[in-house]
Amino acid sequence: MAQIFDCIVIGGGFSGLAAGQILHNEQKSFLLLEARDRLGGRTHTRHFDDGKYVDIGGQWIGPTQDRMYRLATEHGIEWYETYNEGNNILDLNQVIKTYTGLIPKMDIASLINIDFVLKKLDRLAKKIELSNPWSNPNASTWDSMSLEAFAKKHCYTKNCYKVVRAGLETVYACELNEVSLLHALFYIRSGTNLNVLLSIKDGAQQHRIKGGMQPFAEKLAEKFQHSIRLNSPVKRIDQSKAVVSVSGDGFVYHAKHVIVAVPPVLIREIEFSPSLPLKKQQLLQKLSMGIVGKVFGVYEKPFWRSNGFSGQVVADENAPFQTLFDSSPADSSYGVLLAFCIANRAREFFSQNEQTRKKITLEYFERYFGKEAAQPIYYTDHCWADEAWSKGCYAGLYPTGAWTNFQNELARPTGSIFWAGTETSDVWYGYIEGAVRAGERAAHEVLNSLNP
Ligand SMILES: Cc1cc2nc3c(=O)[nH]c(=O)nc-3n(C[C@H](O)[C@H](O)[C@H](O)COP(=O)(O)OP(=O)(O)OC[C@H]3O[C@@H](n4cnc5c(N)ncnc54)[C@H](O)[C@@H]3O)c2cc1C
Repeated sequence: MAQIFDCIVIGGGFSGLAAGQILHNEQKSFLLLEARDRLGGRTHTRHFDDGKYVDIGGQWIGPTQDRMYRLATEHGIEWYETYNEGNNILDLNQVIKTYTGLIPKMDIASLINIDFVLKKLDRLAKKIELSNPWSNPNASTWDSMSLEAFAKKHCYTKNCYKVVRAGLETVYACELNEVSLLHALFYIRSGTNLNVLLSIKDGAQQHRIKGGMQPFAEKLAEKFQHSIRLNSPVKRIDQSKAVVSVSGDGFVYHAKHVIVAVPPVLIREIEFSPSLPLKKQQLLQKLSMGIVGKVFGVYEKPFWRSNGFSGQVVADENAPFQTLFDSSPADSSYGVLLAFCIANRAREFFSQNEQTRKKITLEYFERYFGKEAAQPIYYTDHCWADEAWSKGCYAGLYPTGAWTNFQNELARPTGSIFWAGTETSDVWYGYIEGAVRAGERAAHEVLNSLNP
């Protein structure tokens, strides 16, 4: 007689691992099935031969991401401040200007306009109830328009639009016409406010994990290694009988409950028997992933710091990258410049071969930081839309109409199947914190079902 587990967790990202940790602590029998040959999902630390590394996936944590700080403390993981001193650069209309703090040097009308737009988004977002964004009296209006329509309506100057666009594209990882205003507002509220989402100091980019984010994921799994099966893509979930059967090529396992902790776009590829409720199926068809490429130059040292630069750049659509950051390690023993290449800029950039991408990147890095920037020890980049087991990032995006027509269908349990993944979290949706919260919530749903 085959073993019947208390639970099978599908997906070895932070969400599945957070669920696994709770099931392990509660001494439940479970199996975690991961499609890739590694854990961490949308977090991935790429190591070079000499031990240097870059985080090609999620890398930052910040205030109010309580689960992340708690897990890091529990597992002896250290974090450090993101470098945030010196002059920032604004690359606007092919002119480079430097500035300090959050306010770029540009015409006063555009500055006032930027402040107005960001504050307006924050004011509207404050009205969103995270557990039911669709219940707001303005929800149907906000869900009928894209974030682009909002930006076009409220950005009165061209320069305001360009800067707002680069900032918001970096936050949402898409063109602004790919996401509904209601989702944009929900996302802002979910991560506290826009200032938090955009900032390093006191914001979502405040801290990095020493040694990289993916080793953190591996550390979470240390105590239940024996319950993990890598290289095990799940193809079918059958709950037509008393127990749920989960199968893929060459395996079938049985459990009382299942937690699905994979991105919506990949849930669509699993065959369910019986079929998922129509509303869930339809919503899964609507949620598309954003597209982000991370582009790195690795240097002997963070030379830009001694030249008075923070490493931060905001650039309009004439440049291949929306934003740049200093992404050097905790001890600054080498320097890392990180550029975010997002949405249409990413589609264009990653349609070229690596040699061309490197050439374009180094030209821009040199333009911003001088000759030394043209001589990295390593160049590397990564486009997440190209990954079979992510199909994009940072997270699934609600287009117009999706919130008001489908509401919270994504997280609603389906028989013995419970749903995790950052896209099912009300708080810090799209972030690693959201993934952990969702995994913990799904594990508690399973525990409640095991011991009603
Ligand atoms: C470039 C980039 C930058 C980011 N920056 C940040 C940041 O700085 N801070 C932050 O908080 N967040 C950031 N994010 C977002 C963050 O990484 C994600 O929100 C989070 O990691 C999602 O975790 P998850 O467990 O929900 O999903 P995932 O990490 O996607 O995990 C899902 C897992 O399921 C597996 N899987 C899929 N299908 C199957 C199947 N059929 N069978 C078995 N396994 C399957 C996948 O291989 C994957 O391992 C970033 C993401 C990217 C890509």
